[in-house]
Amino acid sequence: MNAQRQLVLASNNPGKLREFAGLFTAYDIEVVPQSAFNVPEAAEPHVTFIENALAKARHAAQLTGLPALADDSGLCVYKLGGMPGVQSALYDQLFSGLPKDDQRNNARLLENLAKEADRRAHYVCVLVLVRSANDPQPVIAEGEWHGEMLQLPRGDGGFGYDPLFYVAQLGQSAAEIPAQMKNVLSHRAIAFGKLAARLQEGDLFR
Ligand code: IMP
Repeated sequence: MNAQRQLVLASNNPGKLREFAGLFTAYDIEVVPQSAFNVPEAAEPHVTFIENALAKARHAAQLTGLPALADDSGLCVYKLGGMPGVQSALYDQLFSGLPKDDQRNNARLLENLAKEADRRAHYVCVLVLVRSANDPQPVIAEGEWHGEMLQLPRGDGGFGYDPLFYVAQLGQSAAEIPAQMKNVLSHRAIAFGKLAARLQEGDLFR
């Protein structure tokens, strides 16, 4: 591996940048956010996580000429046919037209699940790494975290749907689970671990 290759991250989220930078330092790869190259956010018009992550990674690679990494994540509730899914961040907005808001998303989810006894759900995270915009074989790593949707929010940690996401093995919602533990159990942690395994295999930058 050459020293200090650069990888562009198709996100400007500082938390994600920190996590990914940590993962890649061991491989002498510097992770640079797309904002450093004035790359605007890509559209996410697709109905699957993988397509959206791929679109974001390709877009960043196209505009920078660098390898690019993107992620897409969300919550899939079984009895809602996998919704909110790729619409997780904007779920309430689909119904109300109001600006995106985590609390309104949670209230909307409770309302749409009100009569439902089967409350199983899982979080999904898909990571996509392309070596170039037209990479014919992107590296894809996917993680799932399974739970059930509560009737009322519990806890004030985490973000998004965490106060409603109950993890039976721990008897806690994702918003009650300590952050360090969430960072080991979560869909993102699982996807991250799989990507790290691919790095170990040394097949990312051939
Ligand atoms: P993004 O992939 O970071 O844009 O996340 C999409 C949306 O999925 C977020 O806005 C949340 O609504 C939801 N989401 C993804 N991961 C989590 C999580 O770990 N906890 C709670 N909500 C999440």
